[in-house]
Amino acid sequence: MSLNRRNFLRISATAGAGALFLIPTESLASVKVNDAPKIPTRKLGKTGLELPILSMGVMRADNPSVLRAAYNSGIVHFDTAHGYQNGKNEEMVGNFLEGKPRDSFIVATKCKTRYPLSENFESEYSEMMNTSLKRLRMDHVDIFYNHALDKVEEVKDPRMLAVLSKFKKEGKTRFIGFSTHANKPEQIDAAIEAGIYDVILISYNFKLKQLKETEEAIARGVKAGIGFVAMKTMTGGTEDAEGKKKIDAGACLKWVWQNKNITTIIPGFSNYDELDECLAAVANPELNDKDKKYIAALCNEELLYCVNCEKCVADCVEHLPIPDMMRAYMYNFGYKYPALSKETLMELTLSEKICASCNTCSVTCTEGFDVQRKIASISRLIEVPNEFLV
Ligand code: SF4
Ligand code: SF4
Repeated sequence: MSLNRRNFLRISATAGAGALFLIPTESLASVKVNDAPKIPTRKLGKTGLELPILSMGVMRADNPSVLRAAYNSGIVHFDTAHGYQNGKNEEMVGNFLEGKPRDSFIVATKCKTRYPLSENFESEYSEMMNTSLKRLRMDHVDIFYNHALDKVEEVKDPRMLAVLSKFKKEGKTRFIGFSTHANKPEQIDAAIEAGIYDVILISYNFKLKQLKETEEAIARGVKAGIGFVAMKTMTGGTEDAEGKKKIDAGACLKWVWQNKNITTIIPGFSNYDELDECLAAVANPELNDKDKKYIAALCNEELLYCVNCEKCVADCVEHLPIPDMMRAYMYNFGYKYPALSKETLMELTLSEKICASCNTCSVTCTEGFDVQRKIASISRLIEVPNEFLV
């Protein structure tokens, strides 16, 4: 039977559910390994891991068949988090990976905490880690990230460093790291100084404000043995500020792959078409002239991605966590993922009447965002019951 790759992925995925072909999963995996185009690999810092340059951010996915199709295509690194889909995301990843050879995949998860750390932080954070392992149905993950850090002090917090080191010593994770949307070169330098981090998951795309400084810091990190994984590579997923026109995912991925210090990217594909787009890009990962022109044209456009420059935080009379709120806006209008958007908002300390003290907004955004309008639009989600959100 002759199958093109696209059909093969769909049949593989459905066969796993037993609906079309009663072929055991592992035999599908081995059929695929021979069939699948080889994905180039890069070393992940000093971890000893060599990962395909395309990985999967599972965050938005709720269909295990898409994971199966990714796995069958040669993607081995799956990134989830304690908070995604209220734990269901970790459960889906665990169900999917259960029974597969432990050395055939790399799984990363993240747990978030508030700063300053609470009195009971150590026991609460350990409990979160244990819950994540239980949901994932495994005794250890490969990479554990402290989720979504904003400040240098958070990177160096001695109580956090002690807990992360303990997780590693106990064998609950092979490697430790943190994720950051703030892209502060200072955070990378703090990680080098802290000396315990193996991996940093960083927002990285052509819209970054401190691109040169960030790239130089990444190079210093790599020199110190830290591996870098990239996220938010598609600047919100659309090429307009309203979230209407899908961005060229391939061009965005290729732009990131130009930086050889980035080991792999975790695009958050959640359906077959998005996966196919990523696979098409990785089959031909060099940035071509057309891609370059496309990216150059978007560089000065207002998109959905907040570059986290934090100018607005100083401008705002209430010092609202505007970059996080803009990220929530992007999740809703770019990713079309209101549940994650609400989850992001609920993690923030927000008053009941946001922006109530202002007649006129004093914020001017470097990206041109109408911050007050965006806040008014997105904060309505807080009132929507979770059962109405996807
Ligand atoms: S209206 Fe503008 S300045 Fe006032 S609280 Fe909202 S974001 Fe801040
Ligand atoms: S000024 Fe604009 S781009 Fe900068 S952090 Fe604030 S919302 Fe984001």
